[in-house]
Amino acid sequence: MKIIVLKFGGTSVGTTDRIKKVAKIIAKYKKKYNVIVLSSAMSGVTNNLINLSKKISKNFADSEYDVLVSSGEQVSCALISGELINKGFNSRSWMSWQIPIITDGKYKFSRISKINKNQIISYLKKGGIPIITGFQGINNKNRITTIGRGGTDASAIMFAKFFEAEKCIIYTDVDGVYSTDPNKLKSAKKIKVISYEEMLEMASLGAKVMQPHSIQDARLNRVDIEVRSSFTDNDGTLITKRKNIINNKIITGISNTINDAKVTLLGVRDKPGIAASIFKPLSENSINVDMVVQNISANGKETDLTFTIKSDDLSKTKKIILQNKKINFRDLMFDKNVSKVSIIGVGMVTTPGVTYRMFQSLANQKINIQVISTSEIKISVLIDKKNVRKAISSLHKEFKLNK
Ligand code: ADP
Ligand code: ASP
Ligand code: MG
Repeated sequence: MKIIVLKFGGTSVGTTDRIKKVAKIIAKYKKKYNVIVLSSAMSGVTNNLINLSKKISKNFADSEYDVLVSSGEQVSCALISGELINKGFNSRSWMSWQIPIITDGKYKFSRISKINKNQIISYLKKGGIPIITGFQGINNKNRITTIGRGGTDASAIMFAKFFEAEKCIIYTDVDGVYSTDPNKLKSAKKIKVISYEEMLEMASLGAKVMQPHSIQDARLNRVDIEVRSSFTDNDGTLITKRKNIINNKIITGISNTINDAKVTLLGVRDKPGIAASIFKPLSENSINVDMVVQNISANGKETDLTFTIKSDDLSKTKKIILQNKKINFRDLMFDKNVSKVSIIGVGMVTTPGVTYRMFQSLANQKINIQVISTSEIKISVLIDKKNVRKAISSLHKEFKLNK
C-alpha cells in the first residue's frame, strides 16, 4: 500500500477558503496514494489559546496548558474532513488520543514515541482519508500532551516513519526552504536540496519554516521531507541525507533568532567552580544557557561573565542569580535587544577563512559582535537587534547566496 503523509500548517488552513484549497490538494494525491493528513490549528488560534492561559495565571499548570492549546487542531481537522465529505470522499478526523499517539517527556515539550497503526491502516484499506490532529499526543497516564510550538511538523514525520510512507510533504506558506527568511530578505534564494544537518542548524538557530525536533526525528528515521507551498504549484525543497547532495556552496543559509536575551555578571570572583555555581541552579530550573563568554579583568581576581538565554526565561534567571548565595558579583546586567545571527553550511568544514569573512563583512557595516559561538557547520554571533537586517543582507552578499 503506497502511503503519503501531508502536513498543513496554520496559514494553509487559516480560513475556510484555504481549507477548501487544501481539500483539493488532498484529493489530487488520493488518485495515486493512500493519504494520511496531519493538520495544525488555523493560524493565530494557538496563540490566542496561550493568551487565555496567561490571563488565568502566569504559572498556568502545564498539564492543563496542553489540553487547552491542543484544542485548535480539533477544529481545523473537522473542517478539512467535513469539506472532503462534502466533495464525496470518505474521510474522518482523528484526535491524537483516539489513535492513540503515545508521547514521552514533560508536558509542553513531549516527543512522539509510538503510534498505534491498527485503526488508521484498516481505515485506509477501506479507502478513507484520515485527518489527524498534529502537535499532540497522550502520555502513559492517558493525559493529553503537546510536543512544542510548530510540532505538527514532527507529528507528520513520525507518521511517515511509523507508516513507512513513500513521502512526507510539509505544506506551508512559502514554497520551500530559502537561504534566509524570504519574508525578510527579497534576494533570498530557494534551496533545492538541503541536508538534515544543515536544516537542523538553520531551524534551531531561528528558521521557523521547520520545527527543529522534527528534523531530528527525520534524520534519525531517514524520512525524506519535501517542503512546499499550499498557495502555489512551484517545486519545493527536499530535506534529505548529506550523501544525496552535491553542493558547491560554502554557506547554505543564514538564520537569526528573535527571542534571545543577554545576561552579564560584572566583577565575579575568579576561582575554580564559579561558572558551575552560576549555571547549576539555572539548569535545575530548565533554563537553557546558550552562548557563553568569560573575560578576565585587569587585576586577574575578577571576571565578567556573559551568557544568553531565551528572553522568556529572563525574570526567572534574574531571581535565581540574585538568590544564589554561592556567588558574589558587583553588578548584574540584562539586554533583550540582542539577536543571534548564524551562517550555516557543511562547506565551511573544508574551507578556511569563513570566520574571517563573516567578521569582516559585519565590520564593514560597523556592526559590533558581542558574543561568538561556533560548531563544525555554523558560526553564530550575537549583535544588536536593530542591525539584524543589515547583517543578514551583507552576509548574504558576502557568501553569494543570491546567486
Ligand atoms: P506553518 O504555519 O506552515 O507551519 P511557519 O510560520 O511555521 O509555517 O513557517 C513558515 C515561515 O517560516 C515562512 O512564512 C517564513 O517567514 C519563515 N522562515 C524563516 N526562515 C525561513 C527560511 N530560511 N526559508 C523559508 N521560510 C523561512
Ligand atoms: N498549532 C501549533 C502551534 O501553533 C502546532 C503547529 O502549528 O504545528 O504551535
Ligand atoms: Mg510551523
